[in-house]
Amino acid sequence: MIVLKTPDEIAIMQANGAIVVECFKLARDFIRPGRTRRELDAAIEQLIVERGGRPAFKGFHGYPASTCISVNEEVVHGIPDDRPFQEGDIVGLDIGVEKNGLYVDSARTIPVGKVSKEAEMLLEVTWEALERGIEHAWPGRRLTDISHAVERRAKAGGFSVVRSLVGHGIGRQMHEDPQVPNFGPPNQGPMLEPGIVLAIEPMVNVGGHDVFTLEDGWTIVTGDKSLSAHFEDTVAVTAEGPKILTR
Ligand code: MG
Ligand code: MG
Repeated sequence: MIVLKTPDEIAIMQANGAIVVECFKLARDFIRPGRTRRELDAAIEQLIVERGGRPAFKGFHGYPASTCISVNEEVVHGIPDDRPFQEGDIVGLDIGVEKNGLYVDSARTIPVGKVSKEAEMLLEVTWEALERGIEHAWPGRRLTDISHAVERRAKAGGFSVVRSLVGHGIGRQMHEDPQVPNFGPPNQGPMLEPGIVLAIEPMVNVGGHDVFTLEDGWTIVTGDKSLSAHFEDTVAVTAEGPKILTR
């Protein structure tokens, strides 16, 4: 069941989104060769708590950290540890914040220093795939118009989208209905209407779309060890069109 959000709830989510924006600004300054994933996680947790929020991933289904940090061939759900960032890495950083009973969820993939041409292209295409998807978050469109637009952009770039992980509704729960796939034909699924809030989150691989989970039970990696990128925004459907709450 899709739970619609009131304008007041959307305003709270946008305020929470402002905390996430600050976190990504911090991360862009913080990430450099030699700094570790655990240090980044701690810095972001501290900032969220200072702003009166709660890092929403911590303890979620037993997840042990505040953020997910997924580097290079890691797709999502990487657990921050003591491995240092290296020149040329692409660092997927996924952040969830809960405050005043409402959640937001957002991800960025951040290059460390100079990255390969391939990595550069992957980041550009994945970002654009998110943008193309968000453009369909209008009342009267169907849910999979978003999915189709995301996949189209990724494929046009020569890349593939992960199929076994999807975006989601978000609000009083971090994961709500509906699921938001990043692939498939347009004009299917529920009709979008004002008050629907979605976490739209393309995960795009340089190689094939297959992924698997490492023995830690969390980290998802590409099946062919190719690079993967992830961008995510929390977006409200409003009468005036898509309202991005995490920028
Ligand atoms: Mg996320
Ligand atoms: Mg999400």
